[in-house]
Amino acid sequence: MGAPIRTTCAYCGVGCGVLAQVTGPRSVTIRGDAAHPANHGRLCSKGTHLGETVGLEGRLLTPMIGDGEANWDEALDLVAARMRECIAEHGPDSVAFYVSGQLLTEDYYAANKLMKGFIGSGNIDTNSRLCMASAVAAHNRAFGEDLVPCSYSDLDEADLVLLVGSNTAWCHPVVWQRLEKARATRGTKLVVIDPRRTETAEQADLHVAVAPDGDIALFNALLAEMRRRGLVDDASLAARVETDAGFWTQLDAQPGVPAETFAALCDLVAAHPRMVTLFSQGANQSVCGTDKGNAIINLHLATGRISTPGTGPFSITGQPNAMGGREVGGLANMLACHLSFGADERADVAAFWDAPNLCAGPGLKAVEMFRAIHEGRIRFLWVIATNPAVSMPDSAFVREALARCPTVIVSDILAETDTARFAHVRLPALGWGEKDGTVTNSERQVSRQRALFPPPGEARADWRVISAVAARLGWGEAFAWSGPAAIFREFAAMTKLATRRGRALDLAAYAGLSDAEYDVMEPFQWGGRHPLALGCPTPSGKARLVRVAAPAPRADAQFPLRLNTARYRDQWHTMTRTGLSPTLSQHRREPLLEVHPQDAAALGLEDTGLARVETRQGAAIYRVALSPGQRRGELCVPMHWTDQMAGEGRTNRLASPATDPVSGQPGFKDAAARVQAI
Ligand code: SF4
Repeated sequence: MGAPIRTTCAYCGVGCGVLAQVTGPRSVTIRGDAAHPANHGRLCSKGTHLGETVGLEGRLLTPMIGDGEANWDEALDLVAARMRECIAEHGPDSVAFYVSGQLLTEDYYAANKLMKGFIGSGNIDTNSRLCMASAVAAHNRAFGEDLVPCSYSDLDEADLVLLVGSNTAWCHPVVWQRLEKARATRGTKLVVIDPRRTETAEQADLHVAVAPDGDIALFNALLAEMRRRGLVDDASLAARVETDAGFWTQLDAQPGVPAETFAALCDLVAAHPRMVTLFSQGANQSVCGTDKGNAIINLHLATGRISTPGTGPFSITGQPNAMGGREVGGLANMLACHLSFGADERADVAAFWDAPNLCAGPGLKAVEMFRAIHEGRIRFLWVIATNPAVSMPDSAFVREALARCPTVIVSDILAETDTARFAHVRLPALGWGEKDGTVTNSERQVSRQRALFPPPGEARADWRVISAVAARLGWGEAFAWSGPAAIFREFAAMTKLATRRGRALDLAAYAGLSDAEYDVMEPFQWGGRHPLALGCPTPSGKARLVRVAAPAPRADAQFPLRLNTARYRDQWHTMTRTGLSPTLSQHRREPLLEVHPQDAAALGLEDTGLARVETRQGAAIYRVALSPGQRRGELCVPMHWTDQMAGEGRTNRLASPATDPVSGQPGFKDAAARVQAI
């Protein structure tokens, strides 16, 4: 047995370092890497049981054209020919890639370069759109760049942590362990702002049970109160932050929560200037998610609680490489390296790539993309490492779109997924433990993911497949990388464009790395510990307070309840990986409909009985679980399960496709619903 291999967990954006001891051809034992700065040896249940997910059961091991096996040349020739025909007949915007925060940075970089630089469309978007696009938009509005101005060590040094829309104990457990340690050793206070009394809220010093989308009113009122208490230094603020003249007068002082709860929150915030606000999907997955992010950032900017140890607004990502995707342009509305679509920055990118067809502007965001497919405007779709037939909102509509699309290519590790059923060509990809490259976690820490096993069957790295298609389209020279190290070097060199334009994203020191140095590369954090201290790439060089207003109350007589969605501690996404682990399946064996006991009594629902939940998008059946932690009039279901009887995803067929107007992120957390016992 050789030495353990240092790699990174496959799941969430905490980005824990893992020591993987290979014990057989497809077996491995896992422990936390004590030397990794993200986790210092800690792991959660999902990371600990990664070894149960590396078998080859269900794997796609050879390219498939329709139901027939093909060799790689046949499959790649067909993909390139279909793409070429589609572009020739319908233009570059008739082609789209829908990719994933599961991709390594090198795969992401290759896909983005092909689409935005060579095909000439902005139509590459990612499932990260469903996860944290609103935080990205909020950062861009406040800082002029998608910049997370915090590190995990700020959680160790804060005196008060506000968790907004985050069941951290379940969804980012190693961050939670870090918080628990800070509470035990230095008495850090904890406030949870969440409509549900989650496992995290149960343990907080204060739980603020806001209404769905009530965060903006709460943070605006909190900021107004902090100013009233003299905690906003106007002179210092003017030197650091752009504030428009009417900003303070438009702040509404109505917090939307009971007066005594609000007073307790204000007292805690006023007393603890070293304060981090960590926010997650409960803030982002909303039709006003960008405004929520800015309401949080406004409080930190105005009170000076940013860019110093133990302070800052901290968006934590869901996926292992959502941040890496953001860095290399995986979102349709960004160019690589945090660059914009302005003429100068487009020219920089075109020159760097020697790109013949740099796209003219942003492409379609995920929900718009599937709408365009449904309407026949996009006619070629390449889905890589994600399962939109289950994970997109209004998933029945998404399935219709996939069924109508003349060409669907799916790159995946599994032969059968809900999305693969619509594929004309399936391409076998490498999974965790087979891929080699880098990921970036929520605190901008870049870590290596390393291969533990040789590629199974005919499976290939996504970057290789993308390069091979590019070569068939006549662009081979620009994609002639020898391996992931070469792609990483190119990306690192490209960040010089970003720093020249005032961005904090700077990996230039890694542009000359040899292959051997890349192999042993240690985790590193770009931008330093508090990158905002460097100033902002805004015209004034200052950060900005952004006016945000609470959304109008919603009422729906036909669908009077509000449906929230959540994640379970031991499952991940659509369960294509965690569903393989018997140990993880013990935590929750089925999806439960959580409902307040008094609502259940009024609706005739019984604990453990079955209920049918209906929204304007669809209906699904769940087992009822009475939960006093639910607010009255609100329901909650987990996102993970596929409905075996219906043969489709259960929860996201209920979710509304309404999106945040700035970020394009869907509002998964608040659908109008009704329910009846069956
Ligand atoms: Fe993996 Fe996230 Fe758990 Fe860490 S906290 S072990 S990254 S799932």
